[in-house]
Amino acid sequence: MRKIKYLIFASAICGVVICRSLACLAVEIPLIKVAKTNGLHMLSANSFGAKDVAFAFKDNSRVFTFKKILMPLGFPAVKRYGRYYIDSSDYKYHIQPLLPTTKHRYKKLRTIVLDAGHGGEDNGAIAPWNKLQEKFLTMDVCLRLAKLLEKNGYKVVLTRSQDKKVPLPERTQIANRTKADLFISIHFNSAPSASASGIETFTLTPPTQASSYQASSRSVHGNFIGNTFDTLNIILGYCLQSSLTEKTSAIDRGVKHSTFVVLRDLKCPGILVECGFLSNREECKKIASSAYRDILAQSIFNGIIKFNDLLSD
Ligand SMILES: [Zn+2]
Repeated sequence: MRKIKYLIFASAICGVVICRSLACLAVEIPLIKVAKTNGLHMLSANSFGAKDVAFAFKDNSRVFTFKKILMPLGFPAVKRYGRYYIDSSDYKYHIQPLLPTTKHRYKKLRTIVLDAGHGGEDNGAIAPWNKLQEKFLTMDVCLRLAKLLEKNGYKVVLTRSQDKKVPLPERTQIANRTKADLFISIHFNSAPSASASGIETFTLTPPTQASSYQASSRSVHGNFIGNTFDTLNIILGYCLQSSLTEKTSAIDRGVKHSTFVVLRDLKCPGILVECGFLSNREECKKIASSAYRDILAQSIFNGIIKFNDLLSD
């Protein structure tokens, strides 16, 4: 059934059906058709839009940027005989939500659930430099963000307000029980390599696509309740990631995709934000300052407002 839906959807803008594997058919759409159908101009063989609103793709790569923000695709864009093609599911889940003509139909935000990652015996990442614990930093940013949101008339619910462990499914249930309009999970990153740095956001992986850290393949996982909001999640990801990287000047690691437990069963748009690497000495030094954590909270707030402004009933 899903395969049939793909074919109908893609044929609407003249897709090319190819066989990726013996197991299933993929539909590829020429980039030039994507631009033309949406009244946009090609800027080069692998980009379209306008100079400051460019949708840009890379040869045989999942790298895709919108307004210079990295928004990785589910499948690589393919170059064939000088023309670029993208997968129809990438058009649906990654490109269409960002088109200027797309209407984002969803109620204006009122109740926002903030989820401070980790807590209690679960410290999260620990900075090797100064032993800062992720669980305290996530709580700190959540409280700063909550203050900003409440000052601007939003109702804020915290999944934890103390240093205690809250199971991951319970965090989602808090959002669902309180009929949240938006769920934001705050985290800090860590990597074996001390050179890794920057900010990345994660939305739930769309069905039929692979998560960002998995090899690209089709039908990797099923459909979760949270997948109802895939297209809203992409625009939410763009709003937060662009706001965060602009205000902090941190490296843009992209709006990535994962099947994190806290995002799976959400009955509202949701996102997980990794606000920087505690394992990177320079970035950790910044994160340790309350002025920088204020900037983080302010930029997440700005991203939420940007997202809310795009919503219409
Ligand atoms: Zn974490």
